[in-house]
Parts: sequence; structure tokens; C-alpha cells
Amino acid sequence: MSTTVHPWTSTRRPTTGPTPAPASTESDRTPMSAQPHAVEIVDVAKSFGAVRALAGVSLSLDHGEFVAVLGPSGCGKTTLLRCMAGFERIDSGRIALGGRAVALPGIHLPPHRRQVAVVPQEGALFPHLSVADNVGFGLTGRRGALRGKDRSRRVEECLELVGLTGMGARMPHELSGGQQQRVALARALAPRPPLVLLDEPFSALDASLRAELRSDVRTALREADATAILVTHDQGEALSMADRVAVMRDGEIRQVGTPAEVYSTPVDAWVATFVGEADLIQLPEGHAGHSLETHLGPIAVAEGGPLGTHVVIRPEQVLLTALDHPRRSEVGGVPARVQTVDFHGHDALVTISLPDGTTARVRTGAHPPAVGTDVIAWVEGTCRTVPAGGL
Ligand code: ATP
Repeated sequence: MSTTVHPWTSTRRPTTGPTPAPASTESDRTPMSAQPHAVEIVDVAKSFGAVRALAGVSLSLDHGEFVAVLGPSGCGKTTLLRCMAGFERIDSGRIALGGRAVALPGIHLPPHRRQVAVVPQEGALFPHLSVADNVGFGLTGRRGALRGKDRSRRVEECLELVGLTGMGARMPHELSGGQQQRVALARALAPRPPLVLLDEPFSALDASLRAELRSDVRTALREADATAILVTHDQGEALSMADRVAVMRDGEIRQVGTPAEVYSTPVDAWVATFVGEADLIQLPEGHAGHSLETHLGPIAVAEGGPLGTHVVIRPEQVLLTALDHPRRSEVGGVPARVQTVDFHGHDALVTISLPDGTTARVRTGAHPPAVGTDVIAWVEGTCRTVPAGGL
């Protein structure tokens, strides 16, 4: 099949070619050195009465790593974060931070003894304190407290880290929402905590500010050499910011891997559809071989495990061309009609209707075909199979 990029084709296509390595598991991340994990969560369970919020969660972070815990509302993300911070007691399992056990059944180190900084959804700044005093708040009244010039220097350093140099004298109400979140981050980083927990810190901000802050926060955390966990239900946020993503559902972590691994090699059909858009095609019983005849024409199917029941088609794998395209016969494909166009500026998500009455989604570039246009659609690259899990 042709690999020519048609104007309708999205420029944001994932890599095709060799199948990426399978998602990493906790067991294959054993550090080479004897240095303890920055965070080690082992088989942690937590219920609120009859509600099982965490059902045996295990996750480890190396020093300096940034992990996003991604999952739908109510899956237990905040509970996990609160258990790490010490705001909730766990029922079973254990949590160690920097090699020190902070939570075991019967042992519960209080939050102020865990050296964990939390950046909440909305900054929760002290309204009566200046920006500098908010940032400096964590630098007094604790072991290793800084005073006088040292304190001012650290405050200014942290404001610089979050792009607010010189704004120390302002009061919180004189700042925008985004600037307030930057102050909250500076306050969290000021005492140089080994672990920073971010609880949907961008959710109250508008889209453009969110994108800007994401990248600045990522840079600030990297420069501060902090280990960090971000809790979010926003897949774009998780995929763009994190070194690794832990996908959570119903109190369990379903998959941990780099953003590319989780996107290209989802462990099951639920992860495939939750992380990014995907259309699923059920494999016929007893299917064997690397090619499958589908409503989108023939598709190449990657070697799957015996449990693979569905083929995952990402919208960027579906290409469109005009009916009278000179190389139509070369690309093959099936006739289709554009049903809807969801325009996003840099790209568009187009729904096409197919002759058998089904639909498929297509990621195009910034100039999608208009609704009602007759097109030829085909699938390029190799599609993975996944078990039905969770559907
Ligand atoms: P969201 O994205 O909406 O914040 P979440 O993934 O963070 O959701 P949690 O807040 O951890 O989810 O909640 C997990 C489950 O535990 C939910 O069913 C929730 O209703 C329940 N839960 C959380 N805290 C409590 C509590 N203090 N008492 C009772 N139930 C709770």
C-alpha cells in the first residue's frame, strides 16, 4: 500500500513499523543499584465502607521520575494520592518513600513527617499572605528551616523556577488563576521535597493556559530534580507530561508504561479506548494469520497473544483519498462518505459511514473533506489485537 501522505492525512501520525516493546511491568523495573525506589507502593487496598477505592495497587517510581496516574472519575486516583500523602490510612499493603516505610497496616506516619508536597486542584494559597510569604511558608518552623537572606533567596529561586520572578510582593488576588497555580507549585518545591504530588492541578484553568502551564511545570519539576506523581483524568495531559503513565480503573492499575507504550501497546480493549481514540473490530472465531478482511478493506494484524479478541484501529491509521485519485487502485480501500467533521484547528476527527452501515473515525490534517464528500478509505500500517478486557 502507498505511504504517500495525502493532504487529508493528519501530520500527527504515530510511528508505524516494528511493534514497540510491551509495556513495562513493575517486576522488570528492578533498579540496578541498591538505591531504594523514591516511591514504592505494594498491594495497597483501601475501602470506604462498602466502596472499594483501591484494590491491590502496586507502583514504583525511581528518583526524579514523573508518573501520571490516569483514570476516569471515581477510579481511586485521589485516594491513592491521599494514601501517599498520609491523609488516608491504608487497609492493607505498604507504602515506602525513599526506602522508608510510611504506611503499613498498624503503622501510619502523619503527613507532616512524610516530606511530601501536595499541589491541589486549586492552589489553596493563603489569601492574607503575599506571594513571597506563601512560597516561604514551608521554609519556617521545620527542621532545616531557612531564615533571613537564605529564605528570601530560596523564595526568589522558586519563583524564578515557575516563571514569576519579581512577583513576590503581590497578593494572591492580584494574580491570574494560572499564576496562582504557579505559586502553589513554587510553595510545594521550596522545601525541596523528595516527592511532589499533583492532584489535577490544571483542571480549573482554560485550555490554552493549561497547555502552557503543563510544559512549565514539567520543566520546573525537572530542574528541581523532584520525583512527582500527577493525578489526572486527561489523557492528553498524562501522555504529554509523564515519563510513565499508570492507567487506573475501578481501584486497580491496569497498565504502566511510557506514554508511547501505553498508546501503542494497550493491554486490553478498555485501555485502548480510554487512552486515545480507537475503533475496535472483533476478530472472527479461530482467526489466524496476519491479514483480516474488514469493513475498511484488508488490514494487517500484528502477532497477538492467544487472548487477542479485538483489533485496535487508531483514527490516524485510516487514510482518505478522493474517489478520482489517480492512484486509487494502488491504495485499494473501500468507498465511504464523510458523516461528521470535528475540527480541532491543527487536525480534525472525521467520522465516515461505510457501505455496510457501520462508521469509522479518521484523523485528518487541518483541511478535512467536507461533510457529505464521497471518499475512499483504507487502513495503513499494522493493527494490534487486544483481549476484550473491561468492555
Ligand atoms: P475524581 O477524578 O472524580 O476525583 P478519583 O479517581 O480521584 O475521582 P476517588 O476520589 O479516589 O476517585 O474516589 C474513589 C472512590 O472512593 C469513589 O467511589 C468515591 O466515591 C469513594 N470515596 C472517596 N473518598 C471517600 C470518602 N471519604 N468516603 C466515602 N467514599 C469515598
